[in-house]
Amino acid sequence: MTQKTIYLDNNATTKVAPEVFEKMVPFLTDLYGNPSSMHDFGGELGEYVEKARAHVANLVGAETPSEIIFTSCGTESDNAAIQSALKANPLKRHVVTSKVEHPAILNYFIKLEEEGYEVTWLPVDQEGLLKPETVFQAVRPDTAIVSLMWANNETGVLFPIHEIAVGLKARGVLFHTDAVQAVGKVPIDLSATPVDMLSLSGHKLHAPKGIGALYVRRGTLFHPFIVGGHQERQRRAGTTPVPSIVALGEAARLAALNLEREATYVRELRDYLEQGVAERVPGIYFMGHRTQRLPNTANISFAYVEGEAILLMLSEEGIAASSGSACSSDSLEPSHVLRAMHKPFELCHASIRFSLSIYTTKEEIDLLFERLPGIIANLRKISPFTPDEMR
Ligand code: PLP
Repeated sequence: MTQKTIYLDNNATTKVAPEVFEKMVPFLTDLYGNPSSMHDFGGELGEYVEKARAHVANLVGAETPSEIIFTSCGTESDNAAIQSALKANPLKRHVVTSKVEHPAILNYFIKLEEEGYEVTWLPVDQEGLLKPETVFQAVRPDTAIVSLMWANNETGVLFPIHEIAVGLKARGVLFHTDAVQAVGKVPIDLSATPVDMLSLSGHKLHAPKGIGALYVRRGTLFHPFIVGGHQERQRRAGTTPVPSIVALGEAARLAALNLEREATYVRELRDYLEQGVAERVPGIYFMGHRTQRLPNTANISFAYVEGEAILLMLSEEGIAASSGSACSSDSLEPSHVLRAMHKPFELCHASIRFSLSIYTTKEEIDLLFERLPGIIANLRKISPFTPDEMR
């Protein structure tokens, strides 16, 4: 790879912020102790872990840092939340989620269905939105948990989590949200929004891969998913990964400071991308609600061409984007998210997700404008579906 990559795939993963890297290094070199040790060399590191916990708690508006449990990733947080809810309510055999969740939830719920749980799969509308009423109508006395994503990883569409949380609290139903894509991109204030559990992941907000967190509201019964040592107040065993936790803490601190830039700089750059593509390429369709969505995500379908082919050609030009979630980009199945939105089959196959970050520049978007129209035009020339006037 000689040319510099134009990285427009920040919903798949993000670059580690330079400040985060710097903060982490001493814990990979000199300060390598185990905080559970009796000696000071290890024991004194506990202080840094607790500082990091406070930063994560602050980013999501938790009441106390002890509501934050460090995990290995968003997937673990999701799995831990659901299995804890089911263990806490063994007689409740009904669970609720949506059709557009990330595989971390989707596949867990498919497994539950196979094990005999009854799953209600909530539909979304053509813009990817979910109405709170649809959620409330689905809950029953035997509902063990409702799990809904805060923001969709493919379209960026935001579910009305505040209204849903308030309504479910009033009905006494346990509520988990997969906020992996939302944390650090939009404000989250759990002191005002009564969700019981929330998942987040470090590598989506400029911390390294391999660290995540689960928020568990004070007073919510929690059954550990990974059992062993007494780490994380007996809620998540495994030797404390101090460097990764310190990194997540610093990333959370920075994310809180950068929320304003997400809402202004990143949003404006994303809108510039969408407008610029629309001006240069005919036959495109925007996927997902135009305003109820993350500031960094654009999902665009290019009629008559395969998303996979666009991705490969963009990649040859040094541009990294994605077709749906990274986890599904190795399969040729069209996106389950776009299908749930009842988009025509061929548009589900033709969609590209561009996801930006505070590190994305206007110059990079301008380079996309230089390269993308030619790629689409060339692919349309060889596509049997392209109408003559567009060749
Ligand atoms: N949930 C959502 C919405 C995601 O986008 C992802 C990652 O793409 C995950 C969960 C899984 O997070 P992790 O990669 O940290 O396991």
